[in-house]
Amino acid sequence: MTGQLDGPFDVIVIGAGTAGLPTAISAAERGARTLLVDKSDDIGGTLHVTAGQMSAAGTELQRRKGIEDHPDSHFEDAIRIAKGTSDADLVRLAVDLAPGTLDWLTGEGFEFDPVCPKIFYGHEAYSVARTYWGVDGGRSHLKVLRRLLARARETGRLDLRLETEMTGLTGDGTGAITGIEVRGAGGGVERIEGKNVVLTTGGYGADPKLFARLTQGFPLFTCAMPTSTGEGILCGESAGGVIRNGEKFLPTFGGIEVAGEPGRIDFENMPNLIPQVRPPWEIYVNLKGRRFVAEDNPSVDAREHALMKQPEMTFWIVFDDHILRNAPPFLGNWLTNRNEWDAASIEAAFDSHPSFRRGATLAELAGLCGLDESALSATVAEYNRAAKTGNDPLGRTNFPAPISQPPFYAVKAHGTLLKSPAGLTINTKLQVLDKDGRPIPNLHALGEAIGGATLSGQSFVGGMSVTPALGFGRLLGGKLLQW
Ligand SMILES: Cc1cc2nc3c(=O)[nH]c(=O)nc-3n(C[C@H](O)[C@H](O)[C@H](O)COP(=O)(O)OP(=O)(O)OC[C@H]3O[C@@H](n4cnc5c(N)ncnc54)[C@H](O)[C@@H]3O)c2cc1C
Repeated sequence: MTGQLDGPFDVIVIGAGTAGLPTAISAAERGARTLLVDKSDDIGGTLHVTAGQMSAAGTELQRRKGIEDHPDSHFEDAIRIAKGTSDADLVRLAVDLAPGTLDWLTGEGFEFDPVCPKIFYGHEAYSVARTYWGVDGGRSHLKVLRRLLARARETGRLDLRLETEMTGLTGDGTGAITGIEVRGAGGGVERIEGKNVVLTTGGYGADPKLFARLTQGFPLFTCAMPTSTGEGILCGESAGGVIRNGEKFLPTFGGIEVAGEPGRIDFENMPNLIPQVRPPWEIYVNLKGRRFVAEDNPSVDAREHALMKQPEMTFWIVFDDHILRNAPPFLGNWLTNRNEWDAASIEAAFDSHPSFRRGATLAELAGLCGLDESALSATVAEYNRAAKTGNDPLGRTNFPAPISQPPFYAVKAHGTLLKSPAGLTINTKLQVLDKDGRPIPNLHALGEAIGGATLSGQSFVGGMSVTPALGFGRLLGGKLLQW
C-alpha cells in the first residue's frame, strides 16, 4: 500500500537524502504515520554524488580482519583531528552509534569495497583502519535505502511526496512547530500538520549567495549536490533556531573545474594529490607564482589549511614534459577507479580545457596562466635547486625529477567545498535549539542541516558526515521521536 496519506502526521521528514531516508524509514517501521517530502524528482540527495565514506570502530568487518578498535579510540582520533573545534557531545554520540550503523548496513547486504576497512589518507588519517565505502560511492547506500523505503511504504504508514518543496514551517504562536508549508509540482501551496518535524534538507554548498552570507570571505568552488541550497537551515532560523559554525570552513585539497562551469568542481575526476598514495612529482604554485606548502606534507589538514590562505584558494599544478611522460598519472579518480583521463584525453585537455595550459617555455606558461613570469621562473629555479641538494625551504623531501624539460604544463586546481560548515544548533536529542539553548518544541535536525563543521570542526574527520547522517536518522526515527 503506497498511496497518499492524509495529515496530520506523527512525523514529517523534509529531505529524502542521506539523513532523511533512514529517519523516515525507522519512524514508519516503528509505527509512525510518516510523511517524507523532497523537492527533487528522486530520492537520494547527496547520495547521488558523495564518495559515501564512513567511519566506525568495533565493527563486524574489523573483527573479521582481526582489527581491534573501540569507539573511545575513534572519539580520541576525531577530537584530535578536529583540534577541538567540533561539538564533543555530538561526536561522542556519533562514534557510539557508528559500529551499529555499519553492522546494520552489513546485515542489509551493503556492497562494501572489499579493501575496507582501510586507513584513508585523502583526509587526515585515523590511527586505525576504520574507514569504509561502497563499491559505487553513495549510490551503494542508496541501493539499500531504496529497498528499505519500498518495504516501509508497503506498511501503508509512509507517504513519499517528491517534487514537493518545503517553503516554511508552521507554528502555534507559542514557538512550537506544528507542521510545514509546501509547494507541490503544480505550484500549489499546502499546509501539512505533523507532531514532529525533522529537517534533513542538507547543506548550502550549491547556493553561492547563502555561502557568502554564512561562510564569509571564501570563494566557492563546489561539488555539492545542486539541491543543497540551505532552505531547511533558513526555515529553522526563522523558527528561532541558531545557525553556528559558518566560520569553520575548510576546503578539500585541489579540485578541477568542470569546463564551462565556473565554480563547479568535477568530483568524479579529483586529481590524486595524496602523497601517501602517489608521491608528488609536480609543484603547486599560487596565483602569485609562489609555492605555498611542501607538496608531500603527509598532513592533508596542513595542506588544506595552507591552501585556504592562498589568493582565491587557487593554485597551479606545474610540471614538465619529462614528468608528463614518466610520472604515474595524477589525473583520474583514485577512489572510484573511474578514469576518464587516458594519454590522448590529457593531450586534448591541454588544447581545449580552460584549466589546462601548455607553454613552450616557462615564460609562455606563466603568461597563459596569468602568473608573474619572473616569479614563476624563480620558483621553478628554487625548486630545481632543492631537488639537487635535497634541501627545500618548505621541507619537501620527495624530488623524483627537476622541472626543466619543455614543454611546460600547468593544471589549475581549487580548494573545494565537500560539506558546508554552518547549520542549526542541536542537542544530543537532535532537537533544534533557540538562542537561549532551549529546544524548539517538535523541531529536529540532522545531516548537513546541522552544519558539516559540527562533527568535523574546521577539518575533515573521515566519514563524519555520512555515518552520523545514517546513525542519527535511525536513532531519531527508531527511538527518540514521540507521538
Ligand atoms: C562530492 C562529495 C563527496 C563527499 N564525500 C563524503 C564522504 O566520503 N564521507 C562523508 O562522511 N561525507 C562526505 N560528503 C558529505 C556528505 O555526503 C553529506 O554531508 C551528506 O550526504 C548530506 O546528507 P543530508 O541528508 O544532510 O543531505 P542530502 O543527502 O543532500 O539530502 C537533502 C535532501 O533534502 C532535499 N531538500 C532540500 N531542500 C528541500 C526543501 N526545501 N524541500 C524539500 N526537500 C528539500 C534535497 O533535494 C535532498 O534530497 C561528501 C559530499 C560531497 C558533495
